Amino acid sequence: MSSPSGKNHSTARFETLAIHAGQEPDPTTGAVVPPIYQTSTYVQEQVGQHKGYEYSRTGNPTRTVLETCLAALEGYRLEQPAYGLAFASGMAATDTLLRLVKAGEHVLTGNDVYGGTYRLFEQVLRPYGLDFSYVDMGDLQAVAAALRPNTRLIWLETPTNPLMKISDIAGVAGLARAHPNRPWLAVDNTFASPYLQRPLALGADFVIHSTTKYLAGHSDVVGGGLVTTDAQAYARLKYLQNAVGAVPGPMDCFLTVRGIKTLGLRMQQHARSGLAVAQFLAQHARVAQVLYPGLPAHPGYAVAARQMCSPDGSPAFGGMLSFLHRGGLEAARAMAARTRVFALAESLGGVESLIEHPGVMTHASVAGSPLEVPPNLIRLSVGVEATEDLIEDLEQALG
Ligand code: PLP
Repeated sequence: MSSPSGKNHSTARFETLAIHAGQEPDPTTGAVVPPIYQTSTYVQEQVGQHKGYEYSRTGNPTRTVLETCLAALEGYRLEQPAYGLAFASGMAATDTLLRLVKAGEHVLTGNDVYGGTYRLFEQVLRPYGLDFSYVDMGDLQAVAAALRPNTRLIWLETPTNPLMKISDIAGVAGLARAHPNRPWLAVDNTFASPYLQRPLALGADFVIHSTTKYLAGHSDVVGGGLVTTDAQAYARLKYLQNAVGAVPGPMDCFLTVRGIKTLGLRMQQHARSGLAVAQFLAQHARVAQVLYPGLPAHPGYAVAARQMCSPDGSPAFGGMLSFLHRGGLEAARAMAARTRVFALAESLGGVESLIEHPGVMTHASVAGSPLEVPPNLIRLSVGVEATEDLIEDLEQALG
């Protein structure tokens, strides 16, 4: 990657790419920050003769910046090129990817996924003839046994939302490669972000993001991302991105790109505080169980320590964690309403800490299903405030 400023970033490290990939200074003015191209259309010199952009559903320069940057981060240090696409939301990215699967084909999914993903699969896509089944993705034998002759896609979240289950991405990728139908492996990398986990390097075919979360990082924009090394699938997905049209606006792309610049710094602090909060909760009398893959007692600890690491190779487990309140449903709900630094809100991955009750909030759509979450479950998105303030807040809220 070389830029008009003469800088070549092709050997750059992750943190440098997060700031510069796709973000050459504006050739007209020299502006260091790529402009927000707030335009729907582009003038043509002759019919069909243009500078690469015709209409902003098809392509927009601010979106190109984001797509290039996403590809550079998820494709970090890969031999083959990676291709990025940006969407209006994480669900839009997921929906577009699922359009590669045809009626009569099977999708194998983890038995703990974001509630909105489950809702899309069961309530929207199943009626179109796609078949979904759910398995413990942490158990490779169970995954192997659940694959069917017509499995076209394996959908993996790790860590999962909200139970923080871990699965071995390279292990599942190996099963996909060995299967006669060679299903694709898609990983929802929202919880880890590419700073802490790069699924394409572990054998995945697609990475999906709710860029709303850690990538954008400031709770001020909704967006989605999709990155792949499969050039043929990319061509079809780019076609679908335009044909279906769930694209983000230029301002949303700008905000996401701006957030990504500090991804590494933020993730380091999220992970430091995440671990400290997990250790604090693990010894608290009102907490029955802490679900955080950075605790050695977590069943996925060994796999997480191997596959969740910063680009320099040091293990780090992110800022998401859940715990079971010993007092049951009512005590959990009351506690979630008592925090002062942690805001009671859905979403995650922003600089500010959030607390929520998945059973009633983010995962209400799995109520009554086999994916229903425990009633005394609380989920925390540990932000980048002072760690001591976060722990003191939880201490007073637990009572
Ligand atoms: N994947 C995960 C793991 C999520 O937590 C979410 C949203 O919370 C999504 C996907 C959906 O993303 P969005 O809300 O941007 O559509």
